[in-house]
Parts: sequence; structure tokens; C-alpha cells
Amino acid sequence: MSEKIELLGLSKEEFAAEVAKLGEKPFRAKQLWQWIYNRGVGNFEEMSNLSKDFRAKLAAGYTITRPKIVTEQISKDKTHKWLLEFADGQRVEMVYIPETDRGAVCISTQVGCAVGCTFCHTGSQKLTRNLTAGEIVGQFMVARDAYHEWPSPSDETRYLSNIVVMGMGEPLHNVDNVFKALKIISDGDGIAISKRRITLSSSGIAPKIPLVASELGVRLAISLHAPNDEIRSRIMPINRKYGIDELMKACQEFQKQASWGKYITFEYLMLKDINDSLDCANQLIKLMKKYKILAKFNLIPFNPWPGCSYEPSPKNKVTAFSVALEKSGYSAPVRVARGQDILAACGQLKSQKIAPKAQD
Ligand code: SF4
Repeated sequence: MSEKIELLGLSKEEFAAEVAKLGEKPFRAKQLWQWIYNRGVGNFEEMSNLSKDFRAKLAAGYTITRPKIVTEQISKDKTHKWLLEFADGQRVEMVYIPETDRGAVCISTQVGCAVGCTFCHTGSQKLTRNLTAGEIVGQFMVARDAYHEWPSPSDETRYLSNIVVMGMGEPLHNVDNVFKALKIISDGDGIAISKRRITLSSSGIAPKIPLVASELGVRLAISLHAPNDEIRSRIMPINRKYGIDELMKACQEFQKQASWGKYITFEYLMLKDINDSLDCANQLIKLMKKYKILAKFNLIPFNPWPGCSYEPSPKNKVTAFSVALEKSGYSAPVRVARGQDILAACGQLKSQKIAPKAQD
């Protein structure tokens, strides 16, 4: 018996082709898409406006598989973290960070990560594999299930209003699946999260950065964390491959290609005695001016995790750093750490490693 085809993660065109193969009219593809992505239905039986015959054909040849929830934790500040498991037993974490009337879901793109940033908990877990487009979309659908946001509410009334592609993994090391997933998530007939509410965060895979504007059209954040090659290469090995000059030129290209959302958010983790001096702040300002980058900064207090060798920068240094950037005209708020008590804050995500199943 041949394996069933997974519908989650098929592009709209692939989806329509499958429906056509079953001998159904094109509008049936739209109806099915809406059941899955607008109403969040995972069972063909419930799709009441599809004929019995069509539903039977779908049940015989197709599946709609969400990742399985292994554990869920809710922090004192209501940050919600899920450990999710896919069909092969691999796991990732996903986090929802609520504000008063909206909030962002932070989704993962890989099991582990090959970039190996030295301050990152995920980076200490070697890359196991890329997530498929269906596994990326499925994460967000699990979050929507938890907050009963089906059918897709209007943009103004939804709690899960934004997506940050900032969880486990480097999204630009998994471009095909990540772009495909974000196109599905932003499709107006389904989940319908506006591209303006999606931010892709990269450690700086320079050659792929312009594609975020030209092929996808979502906002861009760069994990910069240092103002020069010396410090950046020390804490982010990826900088030895794509140095700051190449990274800044890629950011210029992104801004040239972007028709909106040209401002790039530079994430800057404040590490004690590593990158938190006023001299570093001044170097950052010079860097942005030299390359004429439309920049905003997000200063992130470091969240220690078990076994890490860094310490958080003291509050007064973080404030002085922020003031220096702001005085030069750059927005540079200090991010309020969320979900620290459940290790859900930035850079703390990590899934348990799954041992391969023993052979019978
Ligand atoms: S910060 Fe991002 S890119 Fe760096 S190791 Fe962690 S998950 Fe990978």
C-alpha cells in the first residue's frame, strides 16, 4: 500500500494539482484549503461542504498531520512554550509571547542548528535536520489550536498576531521550506498572517539575505551581536565565513530590493565585558553610517542557560549603550526578557535529543 500524501506544506499550486488528480473541480481545492488553513480542521469527515465521495478519496490517500505536543509550560508572565514532536521522533520548541491584546509566536525551522553561536543554547545542539514546510506551518497551527483562533480571526482581534522566525535553527539554511511555509501562512484564503507581521531572523547568511525581500517580502532581523569582525568571529563562528563587510552589503541589497519594511532590526545580545562597552556602541553607529543602513536595534539582556560561559551585562551598561545609540538617532529599546522561568527566552530553546530507535 502506498504511503498517504501529507497535505500540510504543499504550495497552493501543488495542492490544486492533487485535487485535480482526484478529478475534482478547481474550486474544490480552494474549499479544502479553507477547511485546513482558515478553519483549522484536521479531519476530512468534518468538511461538510465537500461531497462524501471526495472526502472518502481524501481520507484514502491523504493526511493532515500536526506536530504532537510532548510538553507545554506557561511561565509566570504567560509566555507559553511547547515541546513538539514530528513523525520521526525529532523535536523542536515553539514559544508564544503574549502582550495585552496580541502577541508573537516564535517558530523553529531546524532540529538543532549548524551555526553554533557560542551564546546560544540551541547552537550547542548539533544540526539534525531541516524541518519540512509542513512541519513549520504545523507548529503555528498548534499554537492557534491552543488559543482557539479558528476560523482565522480578523487581523485586529487575533491574539496570535505576529510570527517571528527566530526559534531553533537558521532559517536561511533551510530557504526552500521556510519560504514555502511562510507563503502558506500568509495566504489570504487561509491562516492569513500579513507579511508585515512576519519577521525572519538570520545570523547573517549573506548570499541569501536579499531573497528575503525579493522572493518573500517579510521583515528582516539580523543577529549582529558585535560591532566588528574580531568580536563577532569570536562569538559567532558564521562571521568567519560571511564577515561584517559582506553582511552589510547584503543588508544594503535587501533594502534596495524591499518595496516596504526596509528597516532592518539588529538583534544585539548584551554580554558582560564582551560587547557591551560604549566604544562598541560607537563602533556600531559608525558601521551603520558607513553602509547607510536603515537600522533599528533590539538590545537583549542575556538569559543564561545551564553550562553557558557568558554573563549578562549589568543594567547600567545596557542603559548607557541604549542611550548612546538613541542619541545618534537609532531606536534601541532594551527587550524585556520573557519566559525566563521556563527557559523560553531568546537563545534558550533546546529540544531533547532523540536516540535512534533500536532495530527489532
Ligand atoms: S542564535 Fe540562531 S543561528 Fe545562532 S546557533 Fe542559535 S539558533 Fe543557530
